[in-house]
Amino acid sequence: MSGFLWIRGARVVDPANGLDATADLLVGDGIIREVGRCDAPLGCPVLDADGLVLAPGLVDMHVHLREPGFEYKETIAGGTRAAAAGGVTTVAAMPNTRPVNDDPSVTGYILQKARSEGWVNVAPIGAVTRGLEGRELTEMGLQIRAGCVAFSDDGRPVADSGLMRRALEYASTFGALIIQHAEDPALAGHGCMHEGVISSRLGLPGLPSEAESVMVDRDLRLVALTGGRYHVAHISTGQAVEAVGRARAMGLSVSCEVAPHHFALTDEAVLGYDTDAKMSPPLRGHEERHALLEGLARGIITVIATDHAPHDPDSKRVEFCQASNGVVGLETLLPVSLELVRDGVMGLSACLAAMTVAPARLLGLNRGALTPGMPADLLLFDLDAPWVVDAARLHGTSRNTCFHGRRVRGRVKKTFVAGRLVHDDDG
Ligand SMILES: [Zn+2]
Repeated sequence: MSGFLWIRGARVVDPANGLDATADLLVGDGIIREVGRCDAPLGCPVLDADGLVLAPGLVDMHVHLREPGFEYKETIAGGTRAAAAGGVTTVAAMPNTRPVNDDPSVTGYILQKARSEGWVNVAPIGAVTRGLEGRELTEMGLQIRAGCVAFSDDGRPVADSGLMRRALEYASTFGALIIQHAEDPALAGHGCMHEGVISSRLGLPGLPSEAESVMVDRDLRLVALTGGRYHVAHISTGQAVEAVGRARAMGLSVSCEVAPHHFALTDEAVLGYDTDAKMSPPLRGHEERHALLEGLARGIITVIATDHAPHDPDSKRVEFCQASNGVVGLETLLPVSLELVRDGVMGLSACLAAMTVAPARLLGLNRGALTPGMPADLLLFDLDAPWVVDAARLHGTSRNTCFHGRRVRGRVKKTFVAGRLVHDDDG
C-alpha cells in the first residue's frame, strides 16, 4: 500500500474546520483523504499518534531565506530545513535578496531552487518597488503570474505617500496584498533600540513607538482612499494595534502579524548589549508587550509570523548599533507561541489558526487546513514536552536566536509536506 499513511489516534486540531477531537487522518498520494474515524486500506502503514497533537503544517508568512545573494547567511535549502524542523510547511520568502525579487526571473529562480532543494513549500513575496528603492512600482501582474503571492519592501517601509497610494491601487486590481514594514524613517532616525528607560540607561539612541504608529495611521487613510488590501508586518506597538482594530471595525481590508520575540520579550533583553536582541522593529517595553497580548486575545492580531532573519556571525559580532537587525525564529515559533495558550491569552485552536489558516487565506494559498483533498502538509507535536532552546542545535545556516537558553514546552515530532516526511524528531 505505497503512498498511503494512516495516522491514528491523535488529538486533531484543525482551526479552519472547527475540529479539536481525537481522530485519525488518512493520507493517500500526498493528499488528505479522510479525517475522523478512518477505515484504512488493507496493508496501509500506520503511525500511532496517541498523545500527540496533529495540526496543519504551519504557514509562516514572513521569512528571509537570503538566497539569491546572501548565501553566507542562509540558503533556500538551509532555511527550509529549519522550517521543517519547526513544523513550518510553507514559508513566504521576503524579496530583499540580491538581486531583489522585483522581477519574474528572480521569482522563477527562487521557485525552481525551492523545487529542487527545498524541504518545504516556498511562496515568494515580490517587491513593491524596483530594487526596494521606493521610487518606481514593480510589474505586479507579471510577478503574480510568475508565482508571487503578495508584495512588500520589507526591511524598508514604502515611505512615499503617493507611491503607497499607487501601490495599493495597483495591487488591488489583482486582489494582491501589500505588506508594510511600518516605520517612519525620519522618526526612526538612527535609533537602534526602543526609545525608553532602558535606551537611556544604556546610552543607546532609541526609536519611539510613534515611528511605527505614525506610518500605520497614514497607511490606513490610504487604504480607506483606495480600498486596497493592507497588512502590517511585525506589529510592535499598542498604538498601531488600536489603529488596525479601528480600521477592521470600519470594514477595511486590514490585517497584521506579530512576531514571537515581540510578544515574548521586552527591551530588557538588550541589557548587556546582546546583538541577538537587535531587530527591526525593536523589542519594546512592558506596556507595548501587553498591548500585543491583548491584540492577540481580542482577535485584532490574527497572524503570528517569525520575521526569520538569519545573519552570519560577522554581522552580529560588532557594536550594538552597528549590528545587523534580525533574529532566526522558525524553530522556536511553535513552542514560544504555545506560551500564549499556557498563559491563557488564547486557546490552542486560535493560536494554531494564527499560524495556519489565517496567513494561508491572506496569501491565497490552498494550505493551512486538514480538509480532504488538500495537500497533506502536517505537523505532529507533543504539546507538553519540555526542552531548552540551544542555538548550536538549530538546523539553519545561521544561529542568531534571541531565545537561546529559554526553557520551552511543545516539541515538533514529525513534519510532512504533501505526505512526505521532512522532519522526524526521533531521527
Ligand atoms: Zn520588516
